[in-house]
Amino acid sequence: MIPTARLALVALSAAILAACAPAPVKTPPPAAPAPEPAAPAPTPTAPKVVPATPEELARFRACIAGLRAPAEAAGVTDATFDRHALTLTPDMGVLPLLDRQPEFTTALWDYLAALVDSRRIAQGKERLATYAPLLAEVQTRTGVDPATVVAVWGVESDYGQNFGQRPLLQSLGTLACFGRRQAFFRSELFEVLKIVQRGDVRAEDLKGSWAGAFGHTQFMPSTYNRIAVDFDGDGRRDLVGSIPDALGSTANYLVKSGWRTGQPWGYEVIVPAGFNTALAGRTNRRALSEWQAMGVARVDGGSIDLPADTRAAMLLPTGREGPAFLVFKNYDAIYSYNAAESYALAISLLSNALRGEPGLRTPWPTDDPGLGRDERVELQRLLTARGYDVGAIDGVLGSASREAIRKEQARLGMAPDGRAGQKLLRQLREGR
Ligand code: CA
Repeated sequence: MIPTARLALVALSAAILAACAPAPVKTPPPAAPAPEPAAPAPTPTAPKVVPATPEELARFRACIAGLRAPAEAAGVTDATFDRHALTLTPDMGVLPLLDRQPEFTTALWDYLAALVDSRRIAQGKERLATYAPLLAEVQTRTGVDPATVVAVWGVESDYGQNFGQRPLLQSLGTLACFGRRQAFFRSELFEVLKIVQRGDVRAEDLKGSWAGAFGHTQFMPSTYNRIAVDFDGDGRRDLVGSIPDALGSTANYLVKSGWRTGQPWGYEVIVPAGFNTALAGRTNRRALSEWQAMGVARVDGGSIDLPADTRAAMLLPTGREGPAFLVFKNYDAIYSYNAAESYALAISLLSNALRGEPGLRTPWPTDDPGLGRDERVELQRLLTARGYDVGAIDGVLGSASREAIRKEQARLGMAPDGRAGQKLLRQLREGR
């Protein structure tokens, strides 16, 4: 696929981009949570359970009872099934999420501003320091460098600060019996029951996003069973309670996805004059030497110390205008984690920031850059001070914040699109 400005503006949802993914860790194709703000949002309390009608409840009970035999065939004992599945009640609230369309499309620069923001960079550097011995051990045993591992951790669960709040068994049980992807979710339900059965994680500690991704690394249960490692050697693969297991498993995922030790994910590059943009796209691989012959070079003038025949692809995420990237095999490994260009770029750019590298040289094609979470909090405070009820001041811009933004934009003569950018923040700061 050729990333274009249109693509960047229209749909940075994993939902759409996941279609071409081989086997992402956590994307439950084809629907995914709306990409705004894309980062796991702080949710201090679990969303309210939507109870089933008596008729739905009867259907659910019959459905679950009918899963006992296939679960057993998948390796779930009757005892495990009866204790953890037969006792479930559905949460009908997860079903609308299956078909949810993003209500607010997010430009790539806004997505990145929220994910690769000053808070995540600062906290990531703290994690690098705190877990330096562990990360060194992960690197020794897997070949994956600390900054990459920590960047995945930061984007997936905000360094363990946000796992999602929905009881996983309940979500998966519901999705296994209602909605249009029951076969997929049944299989994930059996996988998560096996995790409980093995004693890796207690059932009550299994909380996650609505679709089943959970823990520090936000693995789906099937990914968990395939990829998770007992890095701390206590006999359990615990990606909820053990940071060593979580970080070791993240690295293991990247290794299984083709990680090349010591190679960079890619570089920001200059686009040569007259460059044929049809050559861009992650799957349009050419030898590094071919790109270099066309005039592709690092924006900072640095050398690319890789063999001339290294396969590489050009990314122009917002078309000819905006930053361009030459990416290698490790970018694909990161991409496989969640099968979206926006996601892979966020991890890659966060990893650069965690290494202390400077940010992008080329600006994104906008005169109104996006806001990080601290700036979103500030914006919510300013809106509150003006009498708007934006709900919790948490940096997550929900519908109440959007509505307040629209009203202020209209008042200030801006296009009332509900988007939070630097221009609006500046005007409100200045008391306009
Ligand atoms: Ca362990």
